[in-house]
Amino acid sequence: MQQSKPKSVRQRQSSPAARLENVELRNYHVQQRIDQDELALIYTATHTTLERPVQVAILRRSGWVASARFQLAARLAARLTHPHLLPVIDAGHDEKYGDYMVLPAIEAQRLSVLLQAGALEPVQALRIFTQIAAALDYLHANAVIHRDVQPSNILIAGDDLAYLTNLGLAASAETPADLGSLEEGDYLSPYSAPEQRLDQTDAAPALDIYSLGAVLYHMLWGDMPEGDGSPLPSLVDKTHATEMANVDALLQRMLAPNPAARPASAGECATLLRRAMRQQLDRATPDMEESRWEVTAEWIENPLEPVLTSELRAAAAHALPEELEQVEQIVAQFQMYLQRSRERADSLHRTDAIRRRLNRWSRQGFFRRTGAGQLIEFEQVLSFNVYFYELRALYETRTHPVASQRPMQPQDRRSTGELPQVWDVDVPDTPPYADVSPTQLILPNSTMVITCPECDGNAELICPRCEGAGMLPRERKVRHPDGSVDTEVISEQCPTCRTYGRVRCERCAGNGNLVEEATFIWSRRAMEFLNHDDDAEDDLLQPLVLQEHLIDVCSTPINVYGGHWHSVPPLDAVLRQAVSEIKDEQTRLIAAELTIKATPVTEVNYKLNDKDDTLYLLGMEHAVLGSWSLLNPERIALVVVGVLLVLGLLIWVAVSVLL
Ligand SMILES: [Zn+2]
Ligand SMILES: [Zn+2]
Repeated sequence: MQQSKPKSVRQRQSSPAARLENVELRNYHVQQRIDQDELALIYTATHTTLERPVQVAILRRSGWVASARFQLAARLAARLTHPHLLPVIDAGHDEKYGDYMVLPAIEAQRLSVLLQAGALEPVQALRIFTQIAAALDYLHANAVIHRDVQPSNILIAGDDLAYLTNLGLAASAETPADLGSLEEGDYLSPYSAPEQRLDQTDAAPALDIYSLGAVLYHMLWGDMPEGDGSPLPSLVDKTHATEMANVDALLQRMLAPNPAARPASAGECATLLRRAMRQQLDRATPDMEESRWEVTAEWIENPLEPVLTSELRAAAAHALPEELEQVEQIVAQFQMYLQRSRERADSLHRTDAIRRRLNRWSRQGFFRRTGAGQLIEFEQVLSFNVYFYELRALYETRTHPVASQRPMQPQDRRSTGELPQVWDVDVPDTPPYADVSPTQLILPNSTMVITCPECDGNAELICPRCEGAGMLPRERKVRHPDGSVDTEVISEQCPTCRTYGRVRCERCAGNGNLVEEATFIWSRRAMEFLNHDDDAEDDLLQPLVLQEHLIDVCSTPINVYGGHWHSVPPLDAVLRQAVSEIKDEQTRLIAAELTIKATPVTEVNYKLNDKDDTLYLLGMEHAVLGSWSLLNPERIALVVVGVLLVLGLLIWVAVSVLL
C-alpha cells in the first residue's frame, strides 16, 4: 500500500469561509457549519425563496488550483446523475465568500467517521461496497476516473445508503491539465494505487478499483495498516473465519500492484464480493432484506484473461518476422475462445434460457426432478472460465569443465583461439523437450599437447616383465638316467617384449605425446507441471469433472521469470515449482512452454424449497452438474418402496415354500 506523503509545508491560507454562519449567500441563508472536507466547509442552509433546506459547500482553500478543482467537482457532479453520486443542485462564485456549491440536505456521516468505531459487519461493508462500486462503474462508463476513493469521500445516510462524493481530483476530458502541479501530499492517500500520479494522461479504472479494494479492506479489518509495500494481513487470520478466504483472494486481486491483474470493473468486484460472502449473507439476511438483492447474471473475468491478452500482444509486437504468423495464430486462438465463452454466457443469461436447459435435463432422466427449471428460484447467475495450466520445462545441465587427457592423434593440433564459457558452447541439436542422457563434450579451443609423463616422450617403457633384459631366466628340472633330479636355469625369451626389452607406452598409445582437453558433462531433462484455477467455493466443482469439458485455449513459449504471468496465482505456483527444480548453478531452465485449457462454467445460485443451493452448467454443451436437491424424491421413494416390496414378496415365497 502506498504511504501518503507528508502534507506539503505550504501554508493553507484560511479563506473568509471560516466565519460564515448566519449570512446570506446569493439565494441561500447559510446557517450552521456541520462538516468539512479537504476543499470545503459545509453548512446547513435554506433557499431563501423556496424555503428548501440544502447544504452549501464553500471552498475554504485559496489559490487557483483549489478553485479549479472545486469547479471541476461541481461541473462533473451536475452533469452526472446516479443514485449513489451526491448531486449538485447549484454552484457559483460569490464576490464576498468565493466559490460555493449547493447540495441536497441529507443526514449522512462520512464513512471515515463511521470507521473510527472499528470494523463494520461484513454484510454492512458489502452493502456500502456494492453501492460505491455501482457509482464507480457509472463514472467509468462516462470516461471519468474518480482518483480519490477513500472513506472520507463516502457518505453514509440512513439505511446504509451510500454516496460517493468529491470529484475534485477526477480525471476526465474536462480536467484542467494544471492539476498536475499539485503536490503529492495533496492527492495521494493511503488508499491510492501505487501507480497513481496526477500528471498521468492515461488514468484508468484500475486506479479506482485499487482504492475501492483498500476501502473494503479498511471496512473489514477496522483500520488501515501502515503502508510499507508488504502484502496486507489476511482477514482469515484476523477473524478466524475460513469463509473469509474468498474475500482475501478478492482483495489480493483488487490490490494487485500490477493494474492489469485487477478485476476489470467495479461491478465485477461487487459480484465477486457477494459471491465470496454468500454464507455470511444467508445468515445475516434471513428475512425480507434479501429481496433487496435482485437476480444478477454476470460475467466474471478470470485474472488470467487480461494478463494472457497483454502477454500475447507483447509477444506479437516483439516477434521476429518468421515467427509472426505463428504468434498471431496463438493470439487468434485465444481471442476466439474468449469470444466463444462470452457468447455462451450471454446465451445462457438470456431470460429463461437456463430454465429451458434444466427442463430438458429433467426430461432426460427418470430420477431427476420434473420441470426443475420451473421449480428453482434464481438468486444469482455467474459465468466464468476455469483454466488448467500445463507447463513443460526443459532443463539443461553443463558441469564445470575438468581436464582430461588422451593419446594424441595425428590430426590433433594445439588450439589457438579463446576458451569459451561452458554455456557458450554449441551442443548437438535434439528434438524439443527430449531428454538427453549425460554426454561428455569437449570445450572448444581447450586442446593442449603435452609430453607423456609416463614414458617421458619416448613412446616406450622398459618392459616391466624382463626389466629390459629381453630374456627371462627359468628354472627347469632335469631328470638324469640314474633317476636323480637336478634343477638348472635356462634363459628364455620374454613373452611380453619378445626379446626387445621395451614395450609400447599405453598411456600415450605409443605416441609420446598426450592431448589435454577440458571436458564437461551435458544432459537435458524435460518435466511437466500441472495446476488449475482453484475454486474452493463448492465441492461439486471438482477438477476431475471439469476436465471432461476442457477446450484448448493456447500453447505458447513462456519466459518463466518475466512478464506479468506471476500475477495469476495458480500460474505463479506452477512457474515457481518449475524454477525450484533448478537445484544447482550448473543447471538452467532453457525452454518452457505453457499450454492452457479451459472449461466455461455457469454457476446458478438458487433457492429450492427455501434452501440455498448451487448448480453448474459446464462446457459448450451446458452439461448440468447439480446436487441431490435436483433429484426427484417421490420417484426415488417409489422405486425404493417397490424394490422393498419385491424383496419382501420373495422372502415370503421362499419362507412358505421351505415350511
Ligand atoms: Zn607415453
Ligand atoms: Zn620384456
